[in-house]
This record gives sequence, structure tokens and C-alpha cells, in this order.
Amino acid sequence: MTWTDGYRKSAGSVFAVLFTLLSGSQSAGADVVKTLANLPEVTRDGFVKIVADRPLSASQGKRVLDLIERAYEFDIDQLGWKKTGNLAMPMTVAVVSDKWMKAHRLRFMGGSFNSTVFAVRDEMFSNPVYDGVIAHELTHLLVMRQFLGDEARNHGWSAVMGEGMASHNGKRFRLATNQKRYPQHRIPANDIDQTMTGLDAKQVFSETGDVAESNRFRYPVGLQFIEFVRLRLDGKGHSDAIRQFGAMVADMARTHKPFDKEFQEHFGTLLDGAHLQFVQFITSTENNPAARFADTILMPKKPGTEDE
Ligand SMILES: [Zn+2]
Repeated sequence: MTWTDGYRKSAGSVFAVLFTLLSGSQSAGADVVKTLANLPEVTRDGFVKIVADRPLSASQGKRVLDLIERAYEFDIDQLGWKKTGNLAMPMTVAVVSDKWMKAHRLRFMGGSFNSTVFAVRDEMFSNPVYDGVIAHELTHLLVMRQFLGDEARNHGWSAVMGEGMASHNGKRFRLATNQKRYPQHRIPANDIDQTMTGLDAKQVFSETGDVAESNRFRYPVGLQFIEFVRLRLDGKGHSDAIRQFGAMVADMARTHKPFDKEFQEHFGTLLDGAHLQFVQFITSTENNPAARFADTILMPKKPGTEDE
């Protein structure tokens, strides 16, 4: 399974991720949001309204509702935030079929179309690890809600950090909800996690804007950088790394202090220096997945297996 964020017009090869969609550079955006939000209602509680393009059974409706509620709470807890203010705003979750996507010339795994309209595919009923996709995409929604009316990237929050944080929460939620599937409490790495080089990581850190948002290495670099900060930064790591990153985002949204300053305040080291340490670590673990993933939530992939 690949992480395909945001949406993509199936007619072309243009792949727009979340930020691009929100910045309005994709003209399809507004129409799609309206169409999704106006699909027939399936069920709701005080926080979430579920809509779908085809009738869902009562148990399917309840399953989506429960999963959204649980993933949302999980993400908030991971980041050390509270479900108050913007983070408590009601939301509409659209469940759409492949047929619907095709008819609307869209293709996505799921994602936030704005800060209140969220979409998932009905693949969620057949794919046991789709809950990870939901927790991943809800993380993007939460960051967007923190920055409501503003853009995180204006304050130095990068595509790589956004995908890192979302991938972290997605994988952690997947571990929490599929314990029998992952008895070691680790998830097999994807090919890209395992084969990326120090040079790939260096490249990701050097890019900004739309270029950064289309580099496929932003996912493995982001996730592994967070794990690196947790376990190895400055030779000691910071066990509460993900909560610290959560606190930085909340601070940035409030004070507009740039990310590199926040990073230095929270971890006592320069962001550039941390990037350099990480690139060196990735270089030193090329062709050595056991060392690369030691103590992390990833584990070396069995040869000949597909990405999950
Ligand atoms: Zn993402």
C-alpha cells in the first residue's frame, strides 16, 4: 500500500498534496469540497457527521464514526494537544467509492479537503490497515486546524515535517489497533524506508515549496527523522520527541515563531545540525536496515514481500 495523500486528477499525472490543495492552486478544490459535504448523511454524533455516495449499513456507519473518533483522540493525545477551541470544531467525513472517484476524476487514499471536510475511501471496510491512513490524514487536518486561516509552511513548517508527523501518528495508531498483526510492536519498513540514502535525505532537507511537496522521500525522511530525534539526537535522543514537535506546532500557530527557532528551544540543538546528524546516520546505515531501524517502530522488511 502506498501513501497517496491529498488527491490527484486521474486524467493527468499531477499529484497535489494537502498544502497545494489548500493554497487554492488546484481549481477543482472548491467544487469538490461542496460535492463531498453534500453527499447523503449516514449517521452522526455531536462531533462527526458521516456522509457517503452510496447507502452504508448501520454497522458500517458506526464503524466509520468510531474509527474517526478514536483516531482523532489518538492523534491529539500523541501530540499533547487538547480537544478544545479549533480542534473541537465539528467535521463532515465523506466515505466515497472508487466509482464515485472515477466519476469525479479524482483519486485519493483520504484526506482533508478543508478544515471541516474530510474524506475516506470505502476501501476502509476491506483493508485492515486503513485505520493508519485515517490517523495519518487526520494529523494533517489537526495541523491545519491549529493554523486556521494561516499556513504552517509560512512559519517554516516543512512538507517533510508534516508528512513525518502524520506518518508517525498513522503508524502508531496502526500498531495500537492491530496488535495481533504486529506482535513485536513494530511495522515492516517500506522499500523506500530501507533503500533511501543519505543523499536522498540531504536533498529533502534542502528543498522548499512545491518541489519539497512532491519529493517522495519526504515520508521516510520525515518519519525516520522524528524517530532519530527520539532515540539518537546528540547521542541521547528525546523520549518525548513527538509531543515536543506537537508543542512546537501549537507554539508556531500562536506566536508565529519560525520552526528552526522552536526546534532549537525545544531540543537545545540547531535544526541544521540535527539534519546533518541524521544524514550521517542514514549514510552510515545504507544497506544495514537492522542498524537503521534499531529500537524504532519500523523493522527490516522480509525479502520478497510487498509494502503494506
Ligand atoms: Zn500525509
